[in-house]
Amino acid sequence: MPSFSRRDFLRTGLAGGAALFTSGLPAPAATEAARIEQGRARNVIFLVSDGMSLGTLTMTERHLRRQEGRGTHWLGLYDRPDLRRALMDTCSANSPVTDSAAASSAWGCGHKVKNGAINYAPDGRPRPPILRLARAAGKGTGLVTTATITHATPAGFAAQVEARADEGLIAEQYLEVGVDVLLGGGAKFFDPAKRTDGRDLFADYARAGYAVVRDAAGLRAAPAGRLLGTFDPEHLPFSLDHRADPALVAKVPTLAAMARVALARLAANPRGFVLQIEGARIDHAAHSNDIGGLLFDQLAFDDAVGAALEFAAGRDDTLVIVTSDHGNSNPGLNGAGGSFTSRGGSYGDTQDCFDRVARFRQTNVWALAGLGPDSTAAQIRERVHAATALDFEDDEVEMLRHALRKEHREGYRVRNAPLVAYGQILANYTSVGWTGTQHTTDYTELAAFGPGSEEIGGLIQNNALFGVMTRALGLAVPA
Ligand SMILES: [Zn+2]
Repeated sequence: MPSFSRRDFLRTGLAGGAALFTSGLPAPAATEAARIEQGRARNVIFLVSDGMSLGTLTMTERHLRRQEGRGTHWLGLYDRPDLRRALMDTCSANSPVTDSAAASSAWGCGHKVKNGAINYAPDGRPRPPILRLARAAGKGTGLVTTATITHATPAGFAAQVEARADEGLIAEQYLEVGVDVLLGGGAKFFDPAKRTDGRDLFADYARAGYAVVRDAAGLRAAPAGRLLGTFDPEHLPFSLDHRADPALVAKVPTLAAMARVALARLAANPRGFVLQIEGARIDHAAHSNDIGGLLFDQLAFDDAVGAALEFAAGRDDTLVIVTSDHGNSNPGLNGAGGSFTSRGGSYGDTQDCFDRVARFRQTNVWALAGLGPDSTAAQIRERVHAATALDFEDDEVEMLRHALRKEHREGYRVRNAPLVAYGQILANYTSVGWTGTQHTTDYTELAAFGPGSEEIGGLIQNNALFGVMTRALGLAVPA
């Protein structure tokens, strides 16, 4: 009998049993089907670092080993004998470079969709996302993020909208679906004073039995049951700015703290749960070429990976998946030396350059928020020093001043122009360079363990993960 590997099947990028049996390939051996049946998962924890290029993961590992003498939870997984690892192809239905809506929809409903759409297939038909299927099976459901809770990545597991920008509608859909735990930013999409229709979604959630909380103290005190926590009108602050401001620390919980609350609550469901946890602002930092924002948010994401590993320790009923939806701007620690940097003369100086990032106090976004077109050279120098402990040279201050006045003269046109000019000047000191300011087509890292993970390996299409999860959970998927 010819041997058939599910992984070969997954490599084709097709998801769903119907495609399998019309492909001319033999059915999986009965023993393998039985093995998958036995390995059925009770819970799925899906962790996504949004916009994480491989360089981000590498630099985070190097930072932790150097500063704390330990590695990341993510790369620590690679020592597990039961770990499955793959590269993931994230292309969308209409582009080799996906956005977060199409990427999360691919995981959420099993179909490649066009950029900007959430669980609407290219044929214009909505597809049921995994949290709706999990709810129908009586499972607990949760979404945790550092973006607005209605942002594209969490929405891809629960919402169906033709345009990701429709976050007010996504906030309504979460209530209709009955997602048990919702934690993140985006209070303005629930607030009657901010919503265009004036609807008080906070009151509607409370009437439906949700505890509705707006700060970390409220989160700690929330009674058992369903929970909506929004800790900022917009996205939650970058981790580097968060830790620098005691008022923010008191008000806004970390991603790991939110993840622990969600896991503890969802674990109470006897039928198990599906939970997505997103580190969202890695992507935003990459768009702005902001190495401090990027590194410290990836560290905060890794703490959330640690929280998931604590939960999964000693259990054999939980499928854990850790990945990214796409690369972004492909940051990398370059060898110092030559004309690349005037603050490090050779490759041997690279570590000293990178160590400067560990001493950053604020993000680049914070630094430029305090400057404008009228800022003087002295003000620029002072603000840069407050954020980074660095002292810019005169020509660098002048370059940043031009950028703030929108008079900069870069070779290629980029978004976030003053931020990118600042980020590129900082490369003179940190030796961290960037390829651009947008998402990239690069394959992403995928690590998984637990029941169902045996299907993962090689080069996998992002939409194949939907089938991995629904088969592991035994969820019925409508044709
Ligand atoms: Zn992005």
